Amino acid sequence: MIEFRNVSLTYPNGHQGLKNIDLKINEGEFVVIVGLSGAGKSTLIRSINQMVKPTQGELFIDGENTLKFSDRKLRKFRRNIGMIFQNYNLVKRSSVLRNVLAGRLGHTGTLRSILSLFPQDDVQLALHSLERVGIAEKAYIRADQLSGGQQQRVSIARALTQKPKLILADEPVASLDPPTAHAVMKDLQRINKEDSITMVVNLHAIDLSMQYAERIIGLRNGEVVFDGPASSVSEKT
Ligand code: ADP
Ligand code: ADP
Repeated sequence: MIEFRNVSLTYPNGHQGLKNIDLKINEGEFVVIVGLSGAGKSTLIRSINQMVKPTQGELFIDGENTLKFSDRKLRKFRRNIGMIFQNYNLVKRSSVLRNVLAGRLGHTGTLRSILSLFPQDDVQLALHSLERVGIAEKAYIRADQLSGGQQQRVSIARALTQKPKLILADEPVASLDPPTAHAVMKDLQRINKEDSITMVVNLHAIDLSMQYAERIIGLRNGEVVFDGPASSVSEKT
């Protein structure tokens, strides 16, 4: 599904964020990227939807070199990718439901989105997504009234509402206490299994990675230094 071919990324200040990455991620995989702070995890995950754009190489998704996409095609492509951030990126003063409906922006049409007029189907889909992460009863509450774990579930529901083929999660549990972090990782794992959505998740905690990943990719200084099943990690580190 995703294939990096000799991808490098140099930031405008000359810093090399990624160096000669060759990587294949298959459809339906649950991949965790680990590495110390500054290793390039964010850069790698954000390069997949071109929030940061690689400066060298080819990046194929479903057989198409996405680095050659026009702006228009890139916007369309991004609609099929759910994105989850460490700090949830919710509109704090909006209701949970409105935040989740943001996953339909672009699908619905710009004018309707601006007017916040969503088709009833989209509202049903958003409510169903909230049910799937166990917080449907919070739909009409302001997003900033929820706990961190609940807010992260809202952002998972927003991603689900996009009906994505791929979810990218950049340190999704780094702001959560350990029990909540486990619960959110379990939600992601369950969704991966139930919907066969490919998941690429950045984590800096190796213990969490070992518990939830099928495959672990280790990064250091922008380079892949490990790639294998979670079960093989303990022997090698
Ligand atoms: P991680 O997610 O593993 O903490 P990042 O991908 O955020 O790592 O960063 C990798 C390296 O690239 C770090 O050295 C970081 O300081 C640098 N970096 C990240 N963003 C930029 C940027 N916009 N400009 C220059 N350097 C950057
Ligand atoms: P994280 O490690 O959680 O990605 P950072 O604090 O490293 O967050 O980065 C926050 C923002 O600053 C990001 O947008 C990143 O791209 C940018 N950034 C990080 N390092 C640098 C850098 N050395 N120069 C310029 N921008 C940077």
